[in-house]
Amino acid sequence: MSEHVNGTAPPALSFELYPPRDQRAVPGVLETVGALADARPDYVAVTYNGTPERREATLDLVGHLAAATRLRPLAHLTCVGETRGSLALLVERLIALGVRGVLALRGDLPTDRATSRGDLPFARHLIELIRDVESRHSAALCGGRLAVGVAAYPQRHPESPSFEHDVEVLLAKERSGADFAITQVYFGEGDYGHLLQAARAAGVTIPIVPGLIAFDSVRRLVRLSELAGIAPDAGLAHRLEDAGDEAARRRIGIDHAVRLANTAIADGAPGIHLYTFNDHRGPLGVVDRLGLTGRFADPAPGYGRLSAAPA
Ligand code: FAD
Repeated sequence: MSEHVNGTAPPALSFELYPPRDQRAVPGVLETVGALADARPDYVAVTYNGTPERREATLDLVGHLAAATRLRPLAHLTCVGETRGSLALLVERLIALGVRGVLALRGDLPTDRATSRGDLPFARHLIELIRDVESRHSAALCGGRLAVGVAAYPQRHPESPSFEHDVEVLLAKERSGADFAITQVYFGEGDYGHLLQAARAAGVTIPIVPGLIAFDSVRRLVRLSELAGIAPDAGLAHRLEDAGDEAARRRIGIDHAVRLANTAIADGAPGIHLYTFNDHRGPLGVVDRLGLTGRFADPAPGYGRLSAAPA
């Protein structure tokens, strides 16, 4: 997709993966990575899980994307349960892996009071810590910065007293140094526009990218809604239940995500972020229907001409 002549960039495209649960899941994740690369996403996000085994799997996948593919990783990082020191080390490891974008999150709180919540109470404090580590590595970053993203909520975060409070929290995250935001999953066609308007009215200026899912199963719809603390879309659930087979369910999920994406783009979304659950078929179906491609790994004119001079 070419640059628009009026100066506005076409919508960006990004995907989200989670690290393989175990060694058996690795080939499937690598296949998905390869398939997603064909859509030339502007970046690929990797979710973070702080348990020791999953943490290493996260860093392995991020490192793989940075070192062995043409894709740009965006590493998620959560501060819950971590000390300032462990987080600083993690940010340093990410910089050393070649990561230049981090999604700064708090993570979900442990359900029992006995488990430590860590040194940093909110995502805002993690942004400040990332900026601090960044300042100590500015030479390695050529004097530049990491892109720091945050979560935004079209529907009230479950711990939050109100939607308006979430917008204030988003503004606080921008003031602490966030560069952009990606939204939680949502179901209503007006939800993204409502958040964008409220955020702009409150003084939030950073890009807010809608996070979308092509749901192809009722089980996932219910589970994800539970995790996000929102009510699952009853109409979508019924359509998925009534579908005759997997292909029909996938079409329903793609239709739903395409509708939300088109509305969000019309409302001013600067890009589309597709949660994949490590299955490329639904997300690539959405991309195809939207006629959207990212711009990363576009072979530059003359790419391939550069070669070492013969001895
Ligand atoms: P915060 O912005 O810190 O907010 C957490 C809660 O505290 C909110 O209710 C907020 O209103 C409230 N709050 C914030 N500041 C204050 C304050 N000063 N005073 C009072 N209340 C305050 N989880 C993972 O474990 N791994 C992931 O990779 C991951 N990726 C995600 C990606 C996206 C795009 C999204 C939307 C969520 C993701 N999550 C992930 C889930 C996320 O960690 C949870 O939603 C978590 O409960 C909140 O994280 P946060 O960064 O929004 O926290």
